[in-house]
Amino acid sequence: MTPKKFDYYSPTSLSEALDLLGTKEEAKVLAGGQSLLALMKLRLAAPKSLVDITKLEGMSYIREENGYLAIGALTIHDMIELSPIVKEKYTLLTDAASKIGDQQIRNRGTVGGSACHADPAADLPTALMAADANFVIQGPRGRRVVSSKDFFLDIFTTAVQHDEVLTEIQIPSLPPHSGTGYIKHSRREGDFAITSCGVVLTTDGGSTCKDVRIALGSIASTPLRFTNAENYLKGKKLDDKTIVEASNQKPDGADPPSDMHGSRDYRMEMIKVFTKRSLKLALGRVK
Ligand SMILES: Cc1cc2nc3c(=O)[nH]c(=O)nc-3n(C[C@H](O)[C@H](O)[C@H](O)COP(=O)(O)OP(=O)(O)OC[C@H]3O[C@@H](n4cnc5c(N)ncnc54)[C@H](O)[C@@H]3O)c2cc1C
Repeated sequence: MTPKKFDYYSPTSLSEALDLLGTKEEAKVLAGGQSLLALMKLRLAAPKSLVDITKLEGMSYIREENGYLAIGALTIHDMIELSPIVKEKYTLLTDAASKIGDQQIRNRGTVGGSACHADPAADLPTALMAADANFVIQGPRGRRVVSSKDFFLDIFTTAVQHDEVLTEIQIPSLPPHSGTGYIKHSRREGDFAITSCGVVLTTDGGSTCKDVRIALGSIASTPLRFTNAENYLKGKKLDDKTIVEASNQKPDGADPPSDMHGSRDYRMEMIKVFTKRSLKLALGRVK
């Protein structure tokens, strides 16, 4: 199918983009187009105006700031996958970006687009939730910074309003003795996740868990923090038994769908398996 007719705008500054979003009828931001254009072709979305933000200068970068890693919203998945800083310090984002679709998708799709699309089966949102990312949003009412907990509101719904643009994602720096990992479970390479798990783990310098964040994908309407497993692990020795027991906890808020990729019961079982594997992956990477 072809999309319904729409007006196309290609602003070159953020203020121009915000002005268009605020004034044009049923306007939507277009970034890499890897999700939005597919929806438009299927006629599941029919915005009257598209505001293409890809010509905005200075929104594609990965750099270390004081206390966090800053990633511009227009940074493509491929750039995250290949970034040495990301690989060295926030390896779960390398894991997640490298598992998105295929190379063509990773060359076009952006981290901001993936976050704003907020598909619960997508890879970066789950990894960003585990990383406790903050989201910088700019609009006619100014600039605000929203935590992961308040950013992902529902399936395909975030805190970004129709007249706002997500400009940057900030990942807090990790304390010493931290390791991270993200594992996606899918039937074929490049498919969306049946379930997925991202972990950020900090030890006391030995084998005790000082702090941990675990996020699950594809089992609720948003990426879900697995707080029961987190609480179980904190202060405990990270041996095989403890990791298995933590992974077997019940995740509050899990409400996985049953579909052609897997039943609800299968997904609930796979949460245990992939939490365990992701914890072990993160533990093996503790520096
Ligand atoms: C065949 C195929 C396979 C895929 N496989 C996977 C996969 O395995 N894992 C996965 O995670 N994803 C997958 N994707 C989705 C891919 O990651 C997309 O790149 C991503 O979901 C959207 O990014 P985009 O830049 O293309 O955004 P777009 O499609 O341009 O936009 C998506 C949505 O976000 C909004 N938006 C975009 N940027 C901003 C911004 N800066 N501020 C405000 N709103 C914004 C748009 O208005 C739109 O609503 C796949 C896509 C395809 C087509």
